[in-house]
Amino acid sequence: MTKKGRVFSGARPTGRQHLGNYLGAMRNYVALQDDYDCIYCVVDVHALTTLETTLELKQNTYDMALDWLAVGIRPEESVVFVQSHVPQVMELHTYLSMVTPLGKLTDLPTFKDKVRENPNNINYGLVGYPVLMAADILLYGTDFVPVGIDQAPHLEFTREVVRSFNYRYGKPVLKEPQMKATSVPKVLGIDGVQKMSKSLNNHIELAATPEETTQRVMQMVTDPARVRRSDPGNPDVCNVFSLHKIFSPQADVDMVNVECRRAGIGCVDCKKLLAKNLNAHLESFRARRTDLDKNPAYIWDVLDDGARRANVLAEGTMVNVRSAIGLP
Ligand code: SF4
Repeated sequence: MTKKGRVFSGARPTGRQHLGNYLGAMRNYVALQDDYDCIYCVVDVHALTTLETTLELKQNTYDMALDWLAVGIRPEESVVFVQSHVPQVMELHTYLSMVTPLGKLTDLPTFKDKVRENPNNINYGLVGYPVLMAADILLYGTDFVPVGIDQAPHLEFTREVVRSFNYRYGKPVLKEPQMKATSVPKVLGIDGVQKMSKSLNNHIELAATPEETTQRVMQMVTDPARVRRSDPGNPDVCNVFSLHKIFSPQADVDMVNVECRRAGIGCVDCKKLLAKNLNAHLESFRARRTDLDKNPAYIWDVLDDGARRANVLAEGTMVNVRSAIGLP
């Protein structure tokens, strides 16, 4: 089947993935494969800008790739690889940095956020992060980048870099990628307040056992105004209900929506129901993950093969880039 173009997306190696990763990116990665040639990259070099130690980098890379494959990314179709395995990205990053004004980078809100988050390690990599990201996208002749609306400025930055580069060297060597607008739901953690994140330990891992998952669901914060079992609740402000709407059958969603408001169901039973539905939803993922995990060499082979295929695309771009610049 003819595909509609090439999609690129990258994610930092954060290890075992959680529900927030699944709803925010992974399920979309799987769906995109039907219509696009997809390139999915574990961006380990990006991670170096803020990592204090690299001891877990390899394991985290493995775990993330394992989860990606278990969830339904098809390596025989999609290119799945590790950023540092295609070193041309560093070369392109250097060339792109020559057409990027420094002030533009230090003015980006994301740079200011990173400085705030890492006050003791404001390194050059943090400044050049968007340029490396542009190199990731442009190296593979990407047509579309799936981004949520809040990340749109990043992509616009990449498009500006393309225009600057092509203008500077007088040839349309790099392709301007288009935004593939994606709805990225904000998935709250079990605290019901902050975005689900491993570092905040408010996450629910996809690969957790059914018992662990149930335990995490039972810890979820509910409607804070519902103090006693007899108090009517408001599902619209409850994170448990938000997850019901994603993982439970419509009949359960409708029932909770009605019964919560008239105190017909208690929060304990409501959470048990969610845990049951969530575990059912994750059952096939877990079975596939356990199966794949029996043969770690296969996961590394997939990443090696992905790097080989990515390398071919990358070198095709770099030949034109070097020639346009006039490098001997
Ligand atoms: S019954 Fe369910 S939806 Fe209502 S407040 Fe409790 S956990 Fe939330």
